[in-house]
Amino acid sequence: MDINKLAKKVEEVSKSYSKEFGINRDNDWFIFKIQEELGELTQKYLMLTKRGRQKRFSEEEIRKQFEFEMADLVCCVLLFANHNKVDLIKNIEEKWFKSHEQRLKKDSFRH
Ligand SMILES: [Mg+2]
Repeated sequence: MDINKLAKKVEEVSKSYSKEFGINRDNDWFIFKIQEELGELTQKYLMLTKRGRQKRFSEEEIRKQFEFEMADLVCCVLLFANHNKVDLIKNIEEKWFKSHEQRLKKDSFRH
């Protein structure tokens, strides 16, 4: 599944969930959700690395919760990007790959 299809599906799920629970997804909601999910991911990471209470969960359960929270965080970033009409692929290519290539070129001139 490509990222645009994934983002579309995530948006459908989020819309449906919000409707069901009466959540108003206003402009700020999207970034607050990222913050919330980052907190949840951090908690699971602390548990996974034995720096947080295990809450009677097994190591495998904590690992799965950690993976789910990472998925939550990525989905919230996709929702935020979609809400703000940000083309993530285009921007990842520009910010990560093109500027990296330019840095490598500059470095090759220096040596
Ligand atoms: Mg979560």
